[in-house]
Formats: sequence, C-alpha cells, structure tokens
Amino acid sequence: MDFRGPVHRKVLERMGLWEAIHERRTRLGKQSLLDASGRSVVELPALMMSGDVELHRGDLCELLFERTREAAEYRFGDAPTALRETPEGVEVEFERHAPQRFDLVVGADGLRSSVRSLLFGAAGDPLRHHGYRVVGCTLRNTLGLRQRGVIYSEPGRGVSVTSAHDEEWVRALFVFTGGPLGPHERSPDSAREAVSAVFAGAGWETRQLVAGLREADDVYFDAVGSVQLARYSQGRVVLLGDAAWGGTLGGQGTPLAMVGAFVLAGELLASPDSPQEAFARFEARMRPYATPAQDGAKRVGGFFAPRTRFGLLLRNRLYRMLTSKPLERVFEKLVTHAACAFELPEQGGAFAWPRHRLGGDFPDAPSRRHG
Ligand SMILES: Cc1cc2nc3c(=O)[nH]c(=O)nc-3n(C[C@H](O)[C@H](O)[C@H](O)COP(=O)(O)OP(=O)(O)OC[C@H]3O[C@@H](n4cnc5c(N)ncnc54)[C@H](O)[C@@H]3O)c2cc1C
Repeated sequence: MDFRGPVHRKVLERMGLWEAIHERRTRLGKQSLLDASGRSVVELPALMMSGDVELHRGDLCELLFERTREAAEYRFGDAPTALRETPEGVEVEFERHAPQRFDLVVGADGLRSSVRSLLFGAAGDPLRHHGYRVVGCTLRNTLGLRQRGVIYSEPGRGVSVTSAHDEEWVRALFVFTGGPLGPHERSPDSAREAVSAVFAGAGWETRQLVAGLREADDVYFDAVGSVQLARYSQGRVVLLGDAAWGGTLGGQGTPLAMVGAFVLAGELLASPDSPQEAFARFEARMRPYATPAQDGAKRVGGFFAPRTRFGLLLRNRLYRMLTSKPLERVFEKLVTHAACAFELPEQGGAFAWPRHRLGGDFPDAPSRRHG
C-alpha cells in the first residue's frame, strides 16, 4: 500500500499516523522491466510503483487496529445480513450476533461489499471487468532481489516480483488476460491451475515462480475490475473506500480509502444531526477525486501484460522515454497528479478535528453508535 504527494501525507499526519507508517515503510527501490534474458530494459523509479512511502497491507491493518481497538468495538468473523432503516436509525442483522440498531452504517467492506448489496440490491453488479486477472502470493526469494523489483512481460501475461524489508521472501504478482470470475472460481487451487496453464512455456524465470506458487499458502486470485456506482449513500447508510469507488489494483485504493474516511468523519462532525447532508458533501468532494484515480485499475493489466508484441514494444519505448533524465519532472507529475488533485477541507472551521486522535482521546462525538 503506498501513499504519495502532500494530500495523502497531510491526512496521515492529521490522523497521527504518518510517523508510524514511515517507520514501517518497505523501502522498496527501483523496479526494472526485463527482457527474456533477465536484462533490464527500463528502470522505473520507486515513486512510480511505491510512492513516497509504501508499507505492507498487514502492517497497515495492524497499526490501524492497535490505534483504534480501545475506542471501537471490533467483532471478527461476522457479517451483516440485513439492513432496515427506521426513523430511529438502521436495524442491522448479523450472521452471528444479535440484531442491533445504529445511528449510521458505514460500509467499508471492500470491492465485493455486502453492505452495498444489501443497500442497492445484488442485481446489477457495479463491478466492471477490465479484461485481466491477477494472482498474488509470497514466494522464497530465489532471485536474490534486495529492496527492488522486476517485471517480466510477454503478450497477455506478465509477472512482477518485489523484495521489501524481508530478504528471504518476495511478493509475486501474476497478471494475465482473462474474463470475470464467479464467487467460486477464486480459490488458491483455481489460481494455481490458471497460472500454470497461462504461463506454460513463458520465458525468463517464470517456470520456477509458477512452481513456487504451488507451495505458496497466501494465494490471492481475482479479476481486475472497478466499482461504478451511481451514488455512495442512501438514507443513513454510506459506502467508503473500495466499496464505493474501488478498483482491484492500480487505483490508489488505500490512500483513497484513508482520505475518504477523513473527509467523511469531518463532514459528519460538521452535520451531526443530518447525516444525509454530510454524505452528500462527502460524495461531492470524493467522487471527482476517486473517479480519475480509479482509471489506474483500467490500465494496470495493459501495463503488466500488454496484449500484443507491438503493445509490449510500445510500453517499453514509452517508459524508457518517460524515465529519461530530461523528462524526470514530467514523469514525477504524471505519477503523482491524480493523488494531488484534491483540496483537503480545512478541518477546524466547522468543527475541530481531533488531531491527536488514533492514540489519544475521542472528542465528544454526537453518538458513539456508528456501525
Ligand atoms: C494485489 C493487490 C495489490 C494492491 N496494491 C495496492 C497498492 O500498492 N497501493 C494501493 O493503494 N492499493 C493497492 N491495492 C488496493 C487496495 O488493497 C485496496 O484499494 C484497499 O485495501 C481498499 O481498502 P478498503 O478498506 O476500502 O477495502 P479492503 O481493504 O478490501 O477491506 C475491506 C474489509 O472488509 C472486510 N469484509 C468484506 N466483506 C465483509 C463482510 N461481508 N462482512 C464483514 N467484513 C467484510 C474484509 O475482510 C476486509 O477486512 C492492491 C490490491 C491488490 C488486490
């Protein structure tokens, strides 16, 4: 997960998280586009792939959990099964816990949000497919990489391998052309099967990476897509992060979710008695920021695995040019533009943002019963 530019940094600073995130950074450096002999043909600067600061998803989750566990009640292994709005709030039914009423419900439950399905109905799935699939896993560092990454591509298939602070292990990402996936087609075994079939006969070191995938125990498999929703909220229920505007990868989903949470909290504190107004302002601010950033998810497959030999050649030429010394500044702008294109509300006007929060005291919020 990476953060780039002053908007992301300011939000993390106001949440009191910047230093802790910086401490946990991966320090991942350059990434090289390789040819079949393993020779680097283009060196991509760290800023493009890992922003100003990058950290592992698990490290961020752990940090957020540690900083909020005293103030929020966490219930693991449960999920909402029904939402019903009443004049007093939202009645929520759960798989395992007893039903409960909340003032508001914030669905921050990812790309396949069940809050979103409960709110808008499961029909008319808003997840648009972009023609690629992705498999991720952790492998032994047989390539001997140290805080750098490599990307090897052939038409329609590509693999990226990155080594961060743990030198023994690397993160591998197999990206390849393919259709959408049904809910039962994303198992680790299906991923291994798909990658073995698609990467059969591929060059460079792909054979041993595919062999490593067979042993990996943290296999992730999904189709690349993005959520396109007509609205982020209805009544007292609002969607946040991937649930509202997410793209599988390449769309700066983590910082967008964090900025979104910050903006939503601000708007709710400014209009404690009218969540609908707060949600409308939240959407008005976030939609123009999230939508262009999300376009990254449409392009990410074509970057890792251009469909044709010509496309591959073109990609390499383009990035060689963009990463050349004279275009250094232009490239920097290109890879930070979407992240910076946001006017952060000056929190402290309509309400005082709890600067020391996520580690200190909660302000007297209108209600603590926010689901
Ligand atoms: C391979 C890969 C690489 C990526 N790399 C990057 C990157 O480098 N930089 C970046 O910014 N983003 C990256 N992303 C995207 C990033 O992971 C997401 O955009 C980000 O995690 C969105 O945060 P979120 O909190 O909205 O959703 P999520 O992180 O998906 O969190 C949703 C949470 O809701 C829970 N949940 C889901 N359904 C239910 C349910 N029914 N009941 C209860 N809980 C539920 C889930 O368990 C999960 O904990 C990557 C994604 C992938 C797949």
